[in-house]
Amino acid sequence: MKNVDEFVLHTYNRFPIAIDSGSGVHVRDAEGKEYLDFMAGIAVYALGYHYPGYDEALIEQVKKTLHTSNLYYHEPLARAARDVVLSTGLSKVFFTNSGAEAIEGAIKAAKKYAYMKDGKNDHEIIAMNSSFHGRSVGALSVTGNAHYQEPFKPLMGGVVFAEFNNIESVKKLINDRTCAIIMETVQGEGGIYPADPEFICEIRRLCDEKDILLILDEIQCGMGRTGKMWAYEHYGIQPDIVTCAKALGCGVPVGAFALSEKAVEKSLVPGDHGTTYGGNPFVCAAVDAVFRLFEENDIVSRAASIGRYLEEALDGFAKRHPDKVVAHRGLGLMRGLEFAADCPVGPVTSKALKKGLLIISAGGNVLRFVPPLVISEADVDEAVRILEECV
Ligand SMILES: *Cc1c(COP(=O)(O)O)cnc(C)c1O
Repeated sequence: MKNVDEFVLHTYNRFPIAIDSGSGVHVRDAEGKEYLDFMAGIAVYALGYHYPGYDEALIEQVKKTLHTSNLYYHEPLARAARDVVLSTGLSKVFFTNSGAEAIEGAIKAAKKYAYMKDGKNDHEIIAMNSSFHGRSVGALSVTGNAHYQEPFKPLMGGVVFAEFNNIESVKKLINDRTCAIIMETVQGEGGIYPADPEFICEIRRLCDEKDILLILDEIQCGMGRTGKMWAYEHYGIQPDIVTCAKALGCGVPVGAFALSEKAVEKSLVPGDHGTTYGGNPFVCAAVDAVFRLFEENDIVSRAASIGRYLEEALDGFAKRHPDKVVAHRGLGLMRGLEFAADCPVGPVTSKALKKGLLIISAGGNVLRFVPPLVISEADVDEAVRILEECV
């Protein structure tokens, strides 16, 4: 699109279509061509497009008010906050405008927690290699990707990196100054790597033992994507802080970080943190509608069962192409097919687009599957049929 390339800063290489509208799990481009959507706006459109009841809730709120600032109470905030707190099993929530901002808030809360304990400000955060937490400077500082970080150094200090799923590498880094361990429960951008149960449970134990806060980033893997509302439920653990965004509003820009009671007690107080837009009535109405629709329509258990179907379908695909697919990983409807080095996934996603399938890659030559949670078995069959033609 001429004016986009002419006027928008070129930080993204876009696929050569202009999306006009969506319906269910399909989108239509400006020329009227239809696509099956297996990327869902990067794991955002959990309910697909125009899920019954979603637009209505938003329209109703538009007619009332979009924005109030955080200097006043409003009913949508009350509802959305209750939804997030009850669902996460945590104690309080702060709403943000994006995932990166949720990470920023989580980092600040962890630093404040440690500061309240010992009055010092030399604390360290342990983050993971091949992680992704966002593009703002704080979030980038805990993102274990040298390429993303390099031009922007010096970044936030006090961050050290361990190897994901290698507990010894974490233990080596823990010291008296460690205030938090931050990780994705399932690494997304890094190539779809679920945490090993022993790894994440041992981290939980170490955090308890040493009074370190465990921050789980569920911006991509949360909100039912893995077949549980929160991916940490697979492991029987609770974080001290969880971050959420992407599917939280199913299309409106909203994120959140929620804290355990312990983290709330020694944490952010008036004057420590804020946002003008964050948690405004419009996005909170969306969040509340999403939680209500998830509940009424059993979206998470549906995601679990269709996730099993997708898993089997991709296992079959991997078996049929042993020379091209070297690994299949994931949980529920968050899955990755890692391709051999001599079979780059870029051309696969381009060919899929031509054949009417939206699908994206993740780091390390991985084809990423993050479809709407409301896809059917027939949609899975269709996606796999198209991919067969693309490899
Ligand atoms: C997308 C993502 C982010 C960043 O979210 P933005 O809304 O793009 O700022 C952070 N963490 C994870 C795991 C993500 O997938």
